Amino acid sequence: MTRPLVIVGGGPTGLGASIHAAQQGLSPLVIEPKEGTIDKACGEGLMPGAIEHLHKLGVDPEGRPFKGIRYCDAHSELQATGHFPTPARGVRRLKLHESLRERAQELGVEFLNGKVDGLSQTDDEVILSLRDIDNIQAEHVIAADGLHSTIRRELGIEPSPPPRRRFGVRRHFQIEPWSDFVEVYWSDGAEAYVTPVADDCVGVAILYEPQAGFDTLLIQNFPKLQSRLGSAPQASKDQGAGPFDQRVRSQRKGRVLLAGDAAGYLDPLTGEGVALGLKTAEAAVQAIASGTPHKYEAAYRSTTRRYYWLTRGLLTLTRPRFVHRPLIQTLRAIPPVFNTSLRFLAT
Ligand SMILES: Cc1cc2nc3c(=O)[nH]c(=O)nc-3n(C[C@H](O)[C@H](O)[C@H](O)COP(=O)(O)OP(=O)(O)OC[C@H]3O[C@@H](n4cnc5c(N)ncnc54)[C@H](O)[C@@H]3O)c2cc1C
Repeated sequence: MTRPLVIVGGGPTGLGASIHAAQQGLSPLVIEPKEGTIDKACGEGLMPGAIEHLHKLGVDPEGRPFKGIRYCDAHSELQATGHFPTPARGVRRLKLHESLRERAQELGVEFLNGKVDGLSQTDDEVILSLRDIDNIQAEHVIAADGLHSTIRRELGIEPSPPPRRRFGVRRHFQIEPWSDFVEVYWSDGAEAYVTPVADDCVGVAILYEPQAGFDTLLIQNFPKLQSRLGSAPQASKDQGAGPFDQRVRSQRKGRVLLAGDAAGYLDPLTGEGVALGLKTAEAAVQAIASGTPHKYEAAYRSTTRRYYWLTRGLLTLTRPRFVHRPLIQTLRAIPPVFNTSLRFLAT
């Protein structure tokens, strides 16, 4: 039996794609190796664009709203605050996964617990091989298997090693959020993102260049944040990810379309990964449903262009430490500049 659409990966992108596909009557199958509700290293800030897209899918995950972004110097009281035009939301990954999966199940999406480890394709179909399970045939495949995608490797479009190796690690603390903003603490070679995710919980995600554990990074780079957290109990197991910066040269090969992190990624610093995953998933489903998969790469480029420009620009601008204070001072002195730049994240 050849299925119309198989989605590899049941993260936000794969589940978003499955909901879009079910809404188009494509009867998708999602293959995912992890059982139950899936957690992952993430800053958990859903920007207004992500919230809007989730609503379009009929998904409204529980979380804590935030009004914008606050840039803080890690070693002093200097800070600048920018507002979104509409609220964003801090949402635990577990809550996000649960609500997307529930919606997919409600629409009749089929799930298979397994890991795809090989792929071949003819003019008419894609054949996926899985450990200990019979091969699966599909007319089209959406690869949503994350930053270090197996499908991408199998297709022979693996990117070259990143020029700059950045990693991320996240931990939750049981503490009442002290701010209605996502706070970003800038330090030398590392940033800490503090997201309110519930009335009694904040998530702290640290992005950094050299490898180090969460405690070392917190103590060495973010003393002000460390004292703010005080003795708040740890509320989750540390989760890490990286290296980021996977510049993929094409997002389609034959009948396989790549979406979300699998299709390419630069860095989480703008907090747009989930929004981009959902948008690229929608574009991939549209291309398949309309019988024009060859048009997907153009749609992918126009959907992600702004993300790549903004992220590349911010990574270059904020790399030297001496820039952080003047940048925060400028944004503090001219709030419309900060608010206008945040509008980009709201779309
Ligand atoms: C530290 C950090 C902070 C971040 N902060 C934010 C933020 O604040 N806001 C935001 O929007 N984004 C943020 N992101 C980015 C966001 O987490 C990702 O962009 C998002 O998870 C991408 O979703 P995805 O479904 O494409 O990939 P993933 O979430 O990685 O899901 C991929 C799925 O594919 C499955 N899979 C893998 N291999 C196979 C296989 N061979 N066969 C079948 N299935 C497979 C995996 O088990 C996984 O469930 C952050 C990321 C990091 C690392």
